[in-house]
Amino acid sequence: MTKYDLIIIGTGPAAYTASIYAARYKLKHIIIGEKLGGLVTETNKICNFPSEEEISGIDLMKKMETRVKNLGINILNDKIIDIQKTKDGFYVTNQNEKKIKTKTVLLATGTKSRKLEINNENKYIGKGVSHCATCDAMFYKNKNVAIIGGSDSAHVTSLYLSKIAKKVYQIYRKDKLRGDPTWIEQVKNNKKIEVIFNNNIQELKGDKILEEIILKNPYQKNKSLKVDGLFIKIGSTPDGLLTNKLKLAQDKEGYIKVNNQQETSLQGVWAAGDVTTASNKLKQIITACSEGAIAADSIFNFMQRKEIP
Ligand code: NDP
Repeated sequence: MTKYDLIIIGTGPAAYTASIYAARYKLKHIIIGEKLGGLVTETNKICNFPSEEEISGIDLMKKMETRVKNLGINILNDKIIDIQKTKDGFYVTNQNEKKIKTKTVLLATGTKSRKLEINNENKYIGKGVSHCATCDAMFYKNKNVAIIGGSDSAHVTSLYLSKIAKKVYQIYRKDKLRGDPTWIEQVKNNKKIEVIFNNNIQELKGDKILEEIILKNPYQKNKSLKVDGLFIKIGSTPDGLLTNKLKLAQDKEGYIKVNNQQETSLQGVWAAGDVTTASNKLKQIITACSEGAIAADSIFNFMQRKEIP
């Protein structure tokens, strides 16, 4: 059985950056992740990554992936369902119950889109309800759509949809949008976007596909919106599966606690990117990359110190 120096779990910016550094440090490693490119691929417009004037999440992640592949690193599109500590490292198990042996692990598992947790939400996924504008926006050409959320993901989604749809409603539970002021200004100045403040979604309706949203408002009678699509952009939460399997220290929201070397509470396990408490929880591509680089460097130093065979 192959024994790796390092298995990187996750396929977002933290994972790919860690891999580039690990390759230069000659660490024998592999990247394993379910969704190639991670959550970034759901963002249609990125304007704050230093090397890019403007780029879509998919294109940026393809660039990073190509860099990694050109270094000869294997990227496996798979889900890790279990992880066990052994005497001299870890066994990582994939969906087909195949065990892979490694000396160290980097968790770069990111976060997954938060759900509204209302009735019928799952029924309409793919039938009018989406979490990904990059994937689904084109289905709503000249149609009416709603976006729920009041921060950056919602803003970029509204702005993107405004170029495709006939009308965009952005629903937000408070009375003032938050996030990047540049996006907020663009949302406010966009004639196709109507922001509906102080509202949340109470119910989704439609025969086979989404047709109507019932809003809830603590101050007024509930309103209804006739829409063809709804994009849920209300943030994301870390996936606790592997964190819990390894019993790693985490904060109350499930983010993995790390020190300034990206080390977790368990020796031999590092974490980087959106899944951690690091970088002041500033969930940006650049901070994920930075944490990935620090983690790879720390793993290299650890391996040298320990002289792991
Ligand atoms: P955020 O956590 O920043 O915002 C989530 C939004 O959804 C908030 O407005 C929040 O409301 C609202 N919300 C949360 N739960 C619910 C709920 N149950 N019902 C209704 N509304 C809810 O997440 P984002 O995904 O927007 O952003 C995450 C990070 O990624 C940020 O750091 C952001 O800057 C970055 N990002 C940057 C982008 C870019 O620049 N291109 C694009 C996308 C993200 P409330 O305000 O009341 O908390």
